[in-house]
Amino acid sequence: MKFITQQYSIPDVPMQPFIDPVEIHNILDNAKPDSARIKDIIEKSLSKNRLSMQETAALTNTTDPDLVEMIKDGARKLKETIYGNRIVLFAPLYIGNKCKNNCTYCGFRASNKDAVRKTLSDVEITHEIEALEDNGQKRLILVFGEHDQYDADYIAHCTKLAYSVKKGNGEIRRVNINAAPLKIEGFRKVKEAGIGTFQVFQETYHPEAYKTYHLRGKKADFNYRLTSLDRAQEAGLDDVGIGALFGLYDWRYEVLGLVRHTNHLEACYNVGPHTISFPRIKDASMLQMGTKYIVTDSEFAKMIAILRLAVPYTGMILTAREPKEIRNECINYGVSQIDGGTKLELGSYSKTQNAEQNLNKGQFRINDERSLNEIIEELLEHNMLPSFCTACYRLGRTGEHFMEFSVPGFIKRFCSPNAILTLAEYLLDYAPKNTAHKGWKVIEKNIEALPDEKVKTKLRERIIELKNGKRDLCF
Ligand code: SAM
Ligand code: SF4
Repeated sequence: MKFITQQYSIPDVPMQPFIDPVEIHNILDNAKPDSARIKDIIEKSLSKNRLSMQETAALTNTTDPDLVEMIKDGARKLKETIYGNRIVLFAPLYIGNKCKNNCTYCGFRASNKDAVRKTLSDVEITHEIEALEDNGQKRLILVFGEHDQYDADYIAHCTKLAYSVKKGNGEIRRVNINAAPLKIEGFRKVKEAGIGTFQVFQETYHPEAYKTYHLRGKKADFNYRLTSLDRAQEAGLDDVGIGALFGLYDWRYEVLGLVRHTNHLEACYNVGPHTISFPRIKDASMLQMGTKYIVTDSEFAKMIAILRLAVPYTGMILTAREPKEIRNECINYGVSQIDGGTKLELGSYSKTQNAEQNLNKGQFRINDERSLNEIIEELLEHNMLPSFCTACYRLGRTGEHFMEFSVPGFIKRFCSPNAILTLAEYLLDYAPKNTAHKGWKVIEKNIEALPDEKVKTKLRERIIELKNGKRDLCF
């Protein structure tokens, strides 16, 4: 069912906004977090039903420490049943930081004269990707400021270039994008280039607050941004990621905004967002931000658990903006993807020297500077399954199809074996001895835990094929 197509058939004309701040505030004001209700809501989510905005609001209003623990426990259980113990790994690759907008929280904003502007040349992009492949990366997100130079043709070009770079056994198998919203035709172009997810973060779902942070340029138009991913869907790009930047407005409001956005996409296109991101504002060059809406660490952890319960089947991304301790804790509440070995300064993956972060060269400060291998080792030590899997996207299991596959057990049956195969590739091609030792142990344990004997046997055969030099095998 495509309500939007019928209602708004003129391409690229902004549709009516689907966010009503009065409605969201009313829901928040009236949601009572009494203990029996909170238990029922957690039960509902554990039965793999998406929560309503009213139910989500009751969770956000919970402050009783025992109930908050119950919410976190629920999120932990839900994560285990739906996603198992795998964590998908990726790296961001900043292509260019020219920007015509003036977002007050961002080091790339046009008015920041201290920012060192750079757009990587094709040769530099190639070197960066070779360096990322040498580390074992298979999944990238290409990141761009908002500038005429970074139009759909250029994004498509960079995507194709990323897929074309092969070094040793290295290759990039999935290129996601975080860039300025495109028009329908633009989304069509980048889809044809083979992108995975196109992410557009709304930053804040509160229109008045939005105005105060987005002072100039195309991004100042709240509705144009809000409807970006509708245009993506109209273009046939059904793999989209949403997000809010936490610290711009009341975090509870933003959680409801994300749920409302998810409901909207599902109602109109039969498919919700593939991923939700929830960055917190970090230090940046010439940062101009108040402290009123700062989200504390404990609120942040609770918020992640609530989102997990609210949208059980949506991937959740937690980036290296957050320090290692918070990432290690919050992974348990429902995060499904993290970045590893992240470097934000343009062109820095191919530089050997590990210099201090220079905020004038990056968008913001990252607080987890572990290498990809260090992260993989820690995940293994906690019995998690690091994954570079790209099978669903490459086999066409995205969007509406992906939702069909998101039935209980499916992800575990397909994702766990695929995670194991991609981890095995990493261990064979890139891991130091010590990591490889830990990795094979975890692989063996995870194979043993698989419920289906046929899958187990097939998986073992495929691992032998990998050991004999084959690559890119999947279920
Ligand atoms: N220029 C594109 C746009 O604005 O849509 C790409 C986005 S930007 C390169 C990626 C995201 O980083 C932004 O959408 C914002 O949520 C986040 N971000 C910007 N400044 C940040 C800061 N100081 N701390 C943490 N995240 C930040
Ligand atoms: Fe530009 Fe994006 Fe930064 Fe805003 S968040 S200043 S649009 S790069």
